[in-house]
Amino acid sequence: MQRNKTIKVKDKTFSVSISERALKRQIKRIAEKINRDYEGQEPVFLAVLNGSFIFAADLLREIDLPCEISFVKLASYEGTSSTGSIREVIGLNIDITGRPVIIVEDIVDTGLTMAHMLETLQKQNPASIDICTLLLKPEKLQVKLDIRYVCMQIPDDFVVGYGLDYDGFGRNTKDIYTII
Ligand code: 5GP
Repeated sequence: MQRNKTIKVKDKTFSVSISERALKRQIKRIAEKINRDYEGQEPVFLAVLNGSFIFAADLLREIDLPCEISFVKLASYEGTSSTGSIREVIGLNIDITGRPVIIVEDIVDTGLTMAHMLETLQKQNPASIDICTLLLKPEKLQVKLDIRYVCMQIPDDFVVGYGLDYDGFGRNTKDIYTII
C-alpha cells in the first residue's frame, strides 16, 4: 500500500525516514539475538510506556523464550527533598528479584531516563538488567550507558510514529517520520 511520504502532526511536518519493513527487519534481528543470549532463562520484559507499546508488541511476538512482560512508566513529581523532582517507576507488578530483566524502550536520547531506570530497578536485586531500545541517538548520549540491544541508530533529529509522539499525537503510523 502506498503511504504518505510526509505527514502533518499538529503544527509540524514530518517526512518518512524509516519504513515499516526496515523496522520489522531490525526487530527480528534483535529478537533472534535475545533468543540466543537468553536461552534457558525466563526473562521479564519491562516495556516503558507510552512510546514503546508498538515496539514491545512486535518484539515480543518474535521472542520464543518463556517470558513475562510488564508495562511501566517513569512518573515525575515534585518531592519535598532538596533534590526537587523525584522520579519513580510505576506499574511494576512483577517481582523481579533474582530475575533477568530486559527493559524495552522506544528511543534513547540523552540516556538520562535509562540511567535513572537502571538505578531504580537495581534496588530490587534482579539477576541482570539489559536495555533493548528501538532507536538510539548516539550523538546525544550524556551518560555512560551499556545498551546491549539497539535496533537502529539515528541522527539527532526529532522523530514520530510507530508509537513515538509529538505532543501526544502521531503515534499511530506504521513508519517512522523525521521532522523537516
Ligand atoms: P532521554 O532521557 O534518553 O534523553 O530521553 C528519552 C525519552 O525522550 C524517550 O523515551 C522519548 O520519550 C523522548 N524522546 C527523545 N527523543 C525523541 C524523539 O526524537 N522523538 C520522540 N517522539 N520522543 C523522543
